[in-house]
Amino acid sequence: MNILFKIGFNIIIKKINLLSINYQKIFFLSILLGEKSFRAKQIIKYVYSFYSDNLNLIKNINIKTFKKFQKIIFIRTLNIYKIQYSYDGTIKFIMEINKKKIETIYIPEKKRFTLCISSQIGCFVGCDFCFTSKQGFNRNLYTSEIISQIWNVFKFIIKKKINFITNIVIMGMGEPLLNFSNIVSSILIMRDKYCFNFSKRVITLSTVGIVPALDKLKNFVDIKLALSLHASNDKIRNIIIPFNKKYNIKSILKSAKKYIKNSKANKNGVTIEYVMLDGINDKYKYAYQLAFLLKNISCKINLIPWNKFLKSKYKCSSIKRINNFSKILLKFGFIVTIRKNRGIDINAACGQLSGEIFNNTNFLL
Ligand code: SF4
Repeated sequence: MNILFKIGFNIIIKKINLLSINYQKIFFLSILLGEKSFRAKQIIKYVYSFYSDNLNLIKNINIKTFKKFQKIIFIRTLNIYKIQYSYDGTIKFIMEINKKKIETIYIPEKKRFTLCISSQIGCFVGCDFCFTSKQGFNRNLYTSEIISQIWNVFKFIIKKKINFITNIVIMGMGEPLLNFSNIVSSILIMRDKYCFNFSKRVITLSTVGIVPALDKLKNFVDIKLALSLHASNDKIRNIIIPFNKKYNIKSILKSAKKYIKNSKANKNGVTIEYVMLDGINDKYKYAYQLAFLLKNISCKINLIPWNKFLKSKYKCSSIKRINNFSKILLKFGFIVTIRKNRGIDINAACGQLSGEIFNNTNFLL
């Protein structure tokens, strides 16, 4: 065990943030330290039951053992820079990373309490209708930074005695599949029964369709998939999502089909997200085209009324057009929902997240 202990310390050249590892890895660290395996459970339970970032407060471990752990682990969470409350109950958490900001949104409904988390600072994809893209790309979030968003909100919820998070959507700032390894390890922590213990059916990853990453995702995690399609043909999609030139609609749908084939989380089908942009992708002929495109895919379609921001050339489709678009798809037997926009007054709705860079009401129309 002594040899293991020494090897362990040679391998661990940097201290590890507990929010970046799941139970299995803490278990492995305990063994490396020559400790009994139950120590891992003691530590992880403390982090995810009491939501304290002060390891010195752990009471059930003796000093000698604690000091051993302290040499290799620590907890560091993101600083909550600002909290904004919407009239509809939505809460926006602006968190800070070296003076950069990311946003995390708590969306309460009757029976569902969803947390929308970010995966990158900014975004590389550059969707023309999305406010996040206007700040460009800064960097990928580390696993601990992704997990810290959930951890911070849980801590807030416990303190304020509001409803616990029931669902996680990875739909905030950034394209999660361009931050593959950190997203996969974060999902493993979300799923871990000693950490957040979320079921595979309540975690949704939303992607524009990064085909090579989507192709390998099934080897690591089974979670719900939402495809940000937003167009029924490549000509329009090339304009609103420039990444489409790299991975076109056909290749994305083929890859998505492979992912959901043996996925238990997606047994009711994948979600197709379609933002409604006036005069761009909302003509009725495109609803027919979409129905044809999706005819062999088990899916439901979520129509998203576009949320405005200054200097955008887009306009949201009218309610009448969205309803009629939806009716055409319903005729083909699809399940169609129209997304309720939440948190518009605090710029927390879909496509409005900017990491506070433009969070000044003057920037809104
Ligand atoms: S919609 Fe998503 S993928 Fe596209 S720019 Fe915005 S954050 Fe990035």
